Amino acid sequence: MLIQHCGDARFVWNLAVEQQSWWRPGRGNGPGAAERQRQLSEARDAEPWLRAGSSAVQQQALRDFDRSMAAFFDKENPAGKPTYRSKHGAQGFVIRDTKARRVSRRWGEVFVPKCGYVRFRWTRDLPDKLGMARVTCDPSGRWHVSFPAPQPAVDRQPTGAVVGIDRGVRTALVTSDGQHYRVPRISDGRAARYLALQRRLARQQKGSRKREKTKQAMARIAAGVTDRRRDWAEKVSTKLVRDHDLVVFEKLKTRNMVRKPKPKPDPDQPGVFLPNRARQKAGLNRGILGSCWGLLAGRTEQKAVASGAAVVYVDPKHTSQECRACGHVASENRESQAVFRCVNCGHEDHADANAARNILARGLAVSAQAPGHGASRPQKPAKAAAGTIRRAA
Ligand SMILES: [Zn+2]
Repeated sequence: MLIQHCGDARFVWNLAVEQQSWWRPGRGNGPGAAERQRQLSEARDAEPWLRAGSSAVQQQALRDFDRSMAAFFDKENPAGKPTYRSKHGAQGFVIRDTKARRVSRRWGEVFVPKCGYVRFRWTRDLPDKLGMARVTCDPSGRWHVSFPAPQPAVDRQPTGAVVGIDRGVRTALVTSDGQHYRVPRISDGRAARYLALQRRLARQQKGSRKREKTKQAMARIAAGVTDRRRDWAEKVSTKLVRDHDLVVFEKLKTRNMVRKPKPKPDPDQPGVFLPNRARQKAGLNRGILGSCWGLLAGRTEQKAVASGAAVVYVDPKHTSQECRACGHVASENRESQAVFRCVNCGHEDHADANAARNILARGLAVSAQAPGHGASRPQKPAKAAAGTIRRAA
């Protein structure tokens, strides 16, 4: 029944997307929210299979769509136009007027239309007032239910401490205090397993059950690493907000950040390159896991806003080439990936820490101009936000 709810919600959503796609300038307005709901009940009368599903779930899918359209028209919001949802990938639907209760220390129950009470593992306190609940199924087949709640404040004392953060490639994240954080990566063993599955998938027949099984196994590996990255982003963002009044990030298109592994030239044939395993693994780290920078910056900002700290984004241009001591900008300053040595004054530093200190200095300049804390909007977090189903907690 849960799978059917997901399918119904997706079907209704996609119909709405298709209907909207017929709009052209000069054609007048498309059907509004009320008209769409009326059309849905008409469709339910005409199609028994649609009537077999839950009207509450289907109506909520339309309300979801209305909200997406509203977000799309909101100029302040970076959300894109609602897009078609696929039956591959994450699935989900929304329950309205949520009824949830606790049955034991570990277990709770939430009422799902046409299913009755469904048990879920109770992992954190629910908000006082339950509005909607979102049920999702991720590609590896795990079901979650999430209850929207305001971001709680991080327990912190204002200290006046400030920090700049460079999203270096080598150590992942370096603060202006010289602290390094490393993003969890896929382990060698898992990477090898994933690549083997990928090759198997390429040989398997499309639409076959064995292929589906292979896909699931790949999704499970990806989910494990994604979970670790999410956990990392939560912990690091909490720590950043707890310990600092001002956190400065660089505005960065994460897509440009991907470092290519060095090609291996063939010593016998100049101009020919040997196959490079690192390349495949880097592709994995990039492809199946994406980047968690958007997540980290987004979560840091949300927690900061709730806790009385500020997040500022600055232009990262030349931050890695500028000398913190004398301000001299030259690409020769960057002696290697790790070492910074100024050709003008001889100032020497860890390259990423030097960049982080530059970022901090720019952030301080920005926040001095605009004393109203937290004025800047976050960058659009990668690509995940628009059109996809948000993951449950
Ligand atoms: Zn210098």
